[in-house]
Amino acid sequence: MTPGVRPLVAGNWKMNGLLASLSEIDAMRRAADAGETGQAELAVFPPFTLLAPTASKIKGGKLSLGAQDCSPTAGGAFTGDISATMLKDAGAAYVIVGHSERRTIHHETDELVRAKAEAALKAGLVAIVCVGETKAERDRGEQAAVVIRQLRKSLPAGGTSDTVVIAYEPVWAIGTGLTPTPQDVAVVHNGIRALVVEVGGPNAAKTRLLYGGSVKPSNCQDLLTLDNVDGALVGGASLKAAEFLAIAAAYA
Ligand code: PEP
Repeated sequence: MTPGVRPLVAGNWKMNGLLASLSEIDAMRRAADAGETGQAELAVFPPFTLLAPTASKIKGGKLSLGAQDCSPTAGGAFTGDISATMLKDAGAAYVIVGHSERRTIHHETDELVRAKAEAALKAGLVAIVCVGETKAERDRGEQAAVVIRQLRKSLPAGGTSDTVVIAYEPVWAIGTGLTPTPQDVAVVHNGIRALVVEVGGPNAAKTRLLYGGSVKPSNCQDLLTLDNVDGALVGGASLKAAEFLAIAAAYA
């Protein structure tokens, strides 16, 4: 954890969730409002179809809302795309950009991720920029170099610690049950901190750096309380409120 920085525990539902799943959001809101997440901010990232109903459920409460992706463009003839302004209008405060599933499945480049992050900032959203190495890169010991290279190209111009969050997610750890050791996470996060301060100046010392990849109640304490780890991006374990809240309890 970074002194003076409020941790963020973010739940990425990916392509999961129907209207019936809103009962999990109710439980998350109740816990956030009751202060059960301690000092951490709790945020949920449901699919686009659940953004507006979630926004009305959490109105006036302490649970935050985000989306999983946005278009780099402001509007127009882009069938199927959703702009950052639309997300803001639907009630989102955050948007994830550059998740490894989008980088891999949809072939998104660092340049596109940066354009999406800049569109997010322009619309008044906080961008969560994801980076992380593949298994092959990890086996070659290139994790820190890969992450720094991705960040240099993906971070939006004009971002600050209030408008940008960085999520380090080793690709091989996502959805696999595998995690790096806390020492390995610490090395990468320390490198990211040094980079953001180099690029963004002293204010960037407060940029929130999340760890993501198979975070669960049994490993959250070890991973989330490291220096320069200011929260988590959680996938599978965020679908059920009880499990998600047990992770946020690392900060209680
Ligand atoms: C993710 O998709 O961002 C993620 C970290 O997934 P999981 O927690 O399921 O590994």
